[in-house]
Amino acid sequence: MPTDPISLPIIEKLIGFDTTSRESNLDLIAYIRQYLDDFGIESRLVHDDDGRKANLYATVGPADRRGICLSGHTDVVPVDGQEWDSDPFQALVRDEKIFGRGTADMKSFIAIALAFVPQFLERRLRTPVHFAFSYDEEVGHLGAKRLVEVMKDMPVKPAMCIVGEPTSLGVIIGHKGKKKVRINVHGHEAHSSLTHEGVNAIEYAARLIAFMQGMARKWQNEGPFDDECDVPFTTMQVGLIQGGTAPNIVPKSCVFDMEIRHLPAVDPEALFDEIRRHAQDVIEPEMKAVAASAGFEFVETPPNLALNTDPDEPVVAFVKRLAGQNKHGKVGFGTEAGLFQQRAGIPTVVCGPGDIGQAHKPNEFITFDQLRKGEAFMQRLADYVCTKDLADGT
Ligand SMILES: [Zn+2]
Repeated sequence: MPTDPISLPIIEKLIGFDTTSRESNLDLIAYIRQYLDDFGIESRLVHDDDGRKANLYATVGPADRRGICLSGHTDVVPVDGQEWDSDPFQALVRDEKIFGRGTADMKSFIAIALAFVPQFLERRLRTPVHFAFSYDEEVGHLGAKRLVEVMKDMPVKPAMCIVGEPTSLGVIIGHKGKKKVRINVHGHEAHSSLTHEGVNAIEYAARLIAFMQGMARKWQNEGPFDDECDVPFTTMQVGLIQGGTAPNIVPKSCVFDMEIRHLPAVDPEALFDEIRRHAQDVIEPEMKAVAASAGFEFVETPPNLALNTDPDEPVVAFVKRLAGQNKHGKVGFGTEAGLFQQRAGIPTVVCGPGDIGQAHKPNEFITFDQLRKGEAFMQRLADYVCTKDLADGT
């Protein structure tokens, strides 16, 4: 009978904090901070504007050289409206599985990393291990966006980063990015019998939407393609639209939300520029000929960056060794990895225990098998950092 995973007590502890993104995560952060403090490890907290949430950054081992960053988000998605058979915020162990919100996505990875701190220290690690634990990943990567701004200016930046999202220990080097834009179409009101005196905001919105649909069709048919992505082309759609007052009034306003989910190697700003240019150069002059105030207004949301790590980056081979894998892949879901890679310039891969198919669902769980594999991964990482110096390769 194999023994229980050593990370189990810490997982149970972390699940006990309700860190649904709308709640504060400070109790969980205080627990981790105290845990590290008990080993003499200092933590740096990076708070949100209200001070209700915090990221935690800490370095275990020598602080004067670049090490390996282990990253995870501390927040979880809501359980509202889901049928759970047990309390989602109390870990339940049954049949070699742990049930609870965040067991798969992704408190177990954080717990495994923390469970190895005593070993890192006892064996006097030569390559430092950095912890980067964020808030608000599930609601737009808000915490990590702040954290990378701090990290990119650190005198000693991590040499590589592993984001432990649940990939069943698959090594993920790429995922799509997402850009969201709200488009306000300003028209000009008139009686519906005088359409030529009005600017119909809904109809001009439709013109731009049809143009966007044409672009999306072209991407689907002509590429660019990335066959490593499960949907191997960039997609775009309008998911929400609202406008008009009554059938007998030429509508003054229309608003719609569009979203681009682009391939790792595609620049979403260039795609969006094409849409904006078409709106401003082709459609708007017609609108303004009737009413000078008519036109398009674009409200952009900060994008979720794609992950696009070169397969030849040392981090890829390194994490494959830790995970006991000889292949890498790309996934459909987004993570904070793109921020570490693109904003902080840290080569990053996504690899962690647990099944993404379990994430965000009622009765979310992680198997002991995945936990043991996650711990074997961390053991190989410990063997490396405790015997080798990443900086000079000795
Ligand atoms: Zn996650």
